[in-house]
Amino acid sequence: MTQTMVPQVGHLIAGETSVTGLREVHDPGHLDNVVAQVAVGTADDVDRAVRAAHDAFPAWRDTPAGERARKLLAAAEILAGSSEELAPLLVGEHGGVMWEAQTDFALGTGVLQNTAGLTEEFLRPVQFDDEQSFISVEKVPRGVAAAIVPWNMPIVLTMVKLAPALATGNTLVLKPSPFASAALTLALEKIAAVLPAGVLNVVHGEGDVGAALCGHPLVRKVGFTGGTATARKVIEATASTTKNLTLELGGNDPAILLDDADIDAVLDRILTGVYTRSGQICFAVKRIYVPRRIYQRFADAFCDRVNEYAVGHGLDPQASFGPLNNEAQFKKVLDLLDRTRNSSAQLVELGRKLDPSSWENGYYVLPHVVRDVEHTAPVSYEEQFGPVVPLIAYDDEDQAVRWANDSEYGLCSSVWTADPERGLELARRIEAGSTFINTHSFESLDLRMPFGGIKQSGIGREFGAAGLPEYVEGHSIRLLK
Ligand code: NAD
Repeated sequence: MTQTMVPQVGHLIAGETSVTGLREVHDPGHLDNVVAQVAVGTADDVDRAVRAAHDAFPAWRDTPAGERARKLLAAAEILAGSSEELAPLLVGEHGGVMWEAQTDFALGTGVLQNTAGLTEEFLRPVQFDDEQSFISVEKVPRGVAAAIVPWNMPIVLTMVKLAPALATGNTLVLKPSPFASAALTLALEKIAAVLPAGVLNVVHGEGDVGAALCGHPLVRKVGFTGGTATARKVIEATASTTKNLTLELGGNDPAILLDDADIDAVLDRILTGVYTRSGQICFAVKRIYVPRRIYQRFADAFCDRVNEYAVGHGLDPQASFGPLNNEAQFKKVLDLLDRTRNSSAQLVELGRKLDPSSWENGYYVLPHVVRDVEHTAPVSYEEQFGPVVPLIAYDDEDQAVRWANDSEYGLCSSVWTADPERGLELARRIEAGSTFINTHSFESLDLRMPFGGIKQSGIGREFGAAGLPEYVEGHSIRLLK
């Protein structure tokens, strides 16, 4: 794509697009290619957007919940209809393969539809009427909500904030990640066109813009998804203005294989859990605990299958997965691989390069497996966020559970077994926001399940009904008779 053809993406404030500063977005799978130009904002743009959202708030709050739900359904239709046009652009920005980008649009659409169907019932007040008093416990929107999202699944991670925020009567200012903002914003421009001006606003920029948004006194709520280190800055930036936070952060998800698991039956699903999006998913499988008795057999079968992967550009239909998203992430993963290579563990590089001549022109990394590795090794302990996974041998289930829980993270986790009862029993012993049995990937998600982390993986829950309470305040009203 040449630079003159690429979309120019501005801020979206009070229903108008505007451009301040312009930055080129390069394709992580073909660094010479510019796929979009995106505005770079300042604290002034944040202030304009927050004030627009603040002005739009009273009328949106007073719009009947049923009408707001109908707008969300219209937004869902727009998002689903945008996938064909915008998924290729998303691939060019974030480096994933096509089905991953399409899944992002599909999940986002599902979240909008699901939330629209839940809100009226959720907002119904709880009331008490007796001789002394009439009491109404009501749920009211907080005001202007801010959403800050990462680059790995930008559509659905925006929709799990936008849907409950708007459905319950808040207005929104979103700051996308500079590494995946174009396709998302172009879809949001279409959605904003069916909403009153100022209900949905977007400001682009880096950490300084995010910090200005978090610190703005008119912002009453921040929904943040990103790294745990960035979340600490969000907490600091919001401290002086006391606002409600939902934090969806990093993870180091354990998968525990039990000795009765049918390796052939579960292997493909475990692999999908590890390598989808090149491992750049908050709830990817990031460490696998394997009974020592079946360790060699499992590790051999695992490596054989990983060796079938082909890595290439996300638009290449032969690519099993694409490059990493950005230089910092690329260097971080290479550094972790170097440290692992220089340790006592066995680092195995597998798979093949689809187009070796383009390899140096993108953030490509082949899939790696780490065998004979300790539970305490950095590759087991740190969130790698790349196509590498340690296989750790354990002696008994208590040890596996102890190791699975020995982490500052607690996002998701999984147990793999032929015995459902055994799986449920073990699942209850794991410290995590979610535990899946015989699954651990996009297919594990169900909108009836709240999603979020414990410990340093976050605060609060998103998805489906669980997201709605995050965007309302309780308002208790009592009439003394
Ligand atoms: P990141 O923390 O670098 O950035 C996330 C967002 O925060 C971006 O929009 C960024 O511009 C913004 N930001 C940066 N500095 C800021 C500041 N000082 N104040 C406010 N905002 C600021 O994360 P990333 O690299 O984009 O994404 C990867 C991380 O996100 C991983 O740790 C991953 O596990 C996590 N993640 C978590 C979930 C989840 O649901 N738990 C989902 C996806 C990704």
